[in-house]
Amino acid sequence: MKARLPPTIAIATIAAAPLLLSDYYIILMNYIGLASLVALGLVLLTGVAGLTSFGQAAFVGLGAYATAVVTTRYGWSPWLGLAVGLALTATAALLLGFIMLRLSDQYLPLGTIAWGISIYFAFGNLVFLGEHSGIPGIPPISLFGWIIDTGWRLYFVIWLAVLLALLAARNLLDSRIGRAIRTLNGHARMAESFGVDTGRLKIIVFVYSALLASLAGWLYAHFLRYVSPSPFGINAGIDYLFMAVIGGSGHIWGAVAGASILTLLKEWLKDVLPHLLGHNGNYEIIVFGLLVVFLLHRTSGGLMPFLVRMFPGGQRLVRPTAAALLPQRPQPARDETLLVIDRVSKSFGAVDAVSELSFELKAGGIVGLIGPNGAGKSTVFNLATGLLPVTAGSILFRGQRIERLGSREIAELGIARTFQHPNLLADRSALENAAIGAHLRGEGGLIAASLRLERAVEARLRGEAAQQLDRVGLGANLHDAAGSLPLGSQRLLEIARALCADPLLLLLDEPAAGLRHLEKQALAALLRDLRDDGVSILLVEHDMNFLMGLADRVLVMEFGRLIADGSPHAIQSDPAVLEAYLGVAA
Ligand code: ADP
Ligand code: MG
Repeated sequence: MKARLPPTIAIATIAAAPLLLSDYYIILMNYIGLASLVALGLVLLTGVAGLTSFGQAAFVGLGAYATAVVTTRYGWSPWLGLAVGLALTATAALLLGFIMLRLSDQYLPLGTIAWGISIYFAFGNLVFLGEHSGIPGIPPISLFGWIIDTGWRLYFVIWLAVLLALLAARNLLDSRIGRAIRTLNGHARMAESFGVDTGRLKIIVFVYSALLASLAGWLYAHFLRYVSPSPFGINAGIDYLFMAVIGGSGHIWGAVAGASILTLLKEWLKDVLPHLLGHNGNYEIIVFGLLVVFLLHRTSGGLMPFLVRMFPGGQRLVRPTAAALLPQRPQPARDETLLVIDRVSKSFGAVDAVSELSFELKAGGIVGLIGPNGAGKSTVFNLATGLLPVTAGSILFRGQRIERLGSREIAELGIARTFQHPNLLADRSALENAAIGAHLRGEGGLIAASLRLERAVEARLRGEAAQQLDRVGLGANLHDAAGSLPLGSQRLLEIARALCADPLLLLLDEPAAGLRHLEKQALAALLRDLRDDGVSILLVEHDMNFLMGLADRVLVMEFGRLIADGSPHAIQSDPAVLEAYLGVAA
């Protein structure tokens, strides 16, 4: 969020509204507030994490029915009703998330549709829940003796909840965990290779969004003082999704924008259309659908990007200070055996990408890995970082078998990598992209992040990211969107991100590709510096001239096998290498 609609304007409007609006509009605003809470959960889940749920209305229902039952049947306080609702929702979302997200991301939309439908029918058919006539007589909430039973009192409670939820979401997105959540949308493999537990994080975001919906349900029940199944059906689930998407699903205020537009639109259509088209038939549903399609078409990316352009300003771009540096791990002694690749094979169906490959790396040098396209170099990186399982053979890092470990565990041991095709969050800043690399060097979960309790950790991570960006020569680009950088700079950013992990072994996949001559020289100087600091580097590179002055040793692969291993000088006149590269027999 480089610039955003100054939230103060929005907050002032919300505070002033009760003075200006009639009772009718206050009630409408209450509905908008409730919908905003649900849509905010979807902004995080769908907009930021890229996971789609049609079932949020069912979580709203769970929150509403839970409090309705315990307050009317057992006479409990509404506050206990809130606790019961949130607990039930968390349990349901955990179970659903666990089942659906373990299968794959595609199952979540389907699973949430099934969930939405079944909960709706459960509400409508359980005698205990009043069947289709619902549960009346729900008491109002009271807070320190203040009974919240009028439209405008509820207005303050609802909008206070909305503002607090927005604040928590903003804090969350602006933290280490928030950065990790952003990677869920298409960059999970990269994130795993820097230690992010993406599977767990998806479930956590799903539960978080469900809890926001459940909170809205609780407020709803004590606002209407009555619940029935109809507001919690699958249609409502789809409406919430529209709100998040139309508002601008990557922006937290987009939840409010989307909830406002859709709620007002529906209400006005209900008033206006009968005058125009007569009272027969539910034309508003059809017209509403067409308008939603039109809005989606005209505002791809949602309304918020529009609003942000109209009201620029917002966030200050501060350069993090490197005052408190992160502790570094000791580098291994020079010549310690760092990595052993032992008769490793990897096949993809009929393709043997790597076959019976063996080599060892010692600590403290730069080793080149070359070979024609398709030789298997990147596959070696994927095997060594746990992104792919080996078909056969073993890999040892500092004497420990790692070929069965996941990427996260390998990242923790101290292997960091860059990707041949830069794997960056294009619309996030260079600083934030680099900071993902430092994920394992910080701590603090979602709750701490929402409450802004981990600012010291976050400051250190950002300081580290700024420092590593300086080191690779991107100090002037900290706040530039990664996608706006030229390819060469994106590769340098990949290196900075890997350095943020404080690696013992750095695997660089074609870092010099796309760099101009001077940039290559700067990169070579950087790699020498890193080597002098004790970092060991395995470097895939095509440019032999680049490697000549840099690598102590060069490995040559062809068709998944090692065909030569020696000094750059010796490699250049090796007959097998000449044949592989030039197609000439020695
Ligand atoms: P290099 O990096 O040396 O150019 P790669 O390791 O990318 O080579 O690829 C080696 C071979 O394995 C190629 O034939 C490539 O098509 C194949 N390959 C690599 N990754 C995959 C994959 N995920 N699925 C199927 N085939 C793959
Ligand atoms: Mg490659």
